[in-house]
Amino acid sequence: MSDFYDPTPQERTHLRRCVDLAREALDDGDEPFGSVLVDADGKVRFEDRNRVRHGDQTRHPEFEIARWSATALTAEERAGSTVYTSGEHCPMCSAAHAWMGLGRIVYAASSEQLQSWLAECGAPPAPVAALSITTIAPRQAVSGPVAEFADELRALHLRRFTT
Ligand code: ZN
Repeated sequence: MSDFYDPTPQERTHLRRCVDLAREALDDGDEPFGSVLVDADGKVRFEDRNRVRHGDQTRHPEFEIARWSATALTAEERAGSTVYTSGEHCPMCSAAHAWMGLGRIVYAASSEQLQSWLAECGAPPAPVAALSITTIAPRQAVSGPVAEFADELRALHLRRFTT
């Protein structure tokens, strides 16, 4: 990984919250992913974390954000929002994000990093290809990954398969 994004202090704070939500998810038996939607004024409007442990494997926080935004935000508010997330959106969530016309995405770890960490701990292959957000949504504004969260997120993902 050579092209890391250098976040502003405010972006770093939102990403920090995403990583904390990811840890909370893992501690609760879910997968370590967390996301936050921030509006154009910089206010956190919605946050969630992965909730797949009861069997619904579509309960990704980015997907929850997209669906929440359908009724909670206007089209203009959606376009002006920024979604922060601990891990780059999967294809399902990238598509949902783009269909809803949500704004920029800032992610801490890339799908490429996640794939290498999962391979490292012998995790079974995912049923969905690890395509980048812009492969799914070509005009999507995206920033990431952020180097400073890599070790912490790697440790969370490895813990999922080693304890
Ligand atoms: Zn997803």
